[in-house]
Amino acid sequence: MSLTDLYREVIVEHYKHPRNKGELPDPTVRVELYNPVCGDEIELKLAVREGRIEAARFTGKGCSISQASASMMTEAIEGRSVEEVAGLVESFKRFLRGEEPAGGAERLGELVALEGVRRFPVRIKCALLSWSALEQSLQKLAAKE
Ligand code: ZN
Repeated sequence: MSLTDLYREVIVEHYKHPRNKGELPDPTVRVELYNPVCGDEIELKLAVREGRIEAARFTGKGCSISQASASMMTEAIEGRSVEEVAGLVESFKRFLRGEEPAGGAERLGELVALEGVRRFPVRIKCALLSWSALEQSLQKLAAKE
């Protein structure tokens, strides 16, 4: 199996069986975003306590890239500190731009499966939708403090 096939399987698997999809009662922060180019919708909800993401849930609908990216993102950020998550957002954005992320691509784990979208600017918007929601969530959190 080629790496491309493997990556495609990871994306399809997350799309069919999304992790952390659902509601979160009393979230610390909630951000809803829409990607008009593709029609993707994401609502991200985070429970944050003492500077740490205790829970991340999302709801939404859209293409496999947008939904798989949201699923993988929530898995990657749960349990991490807000600082670590801010660093991960930067790394992932660099990675999608085809640059070497700080600390190397290894720190992105399973997220490297989204590598293929780099060749398709329209798809990058799909992959980044949940991450933009995350970025705005972090900004809202910072404004609360
Ligand atoms: Zn899309």
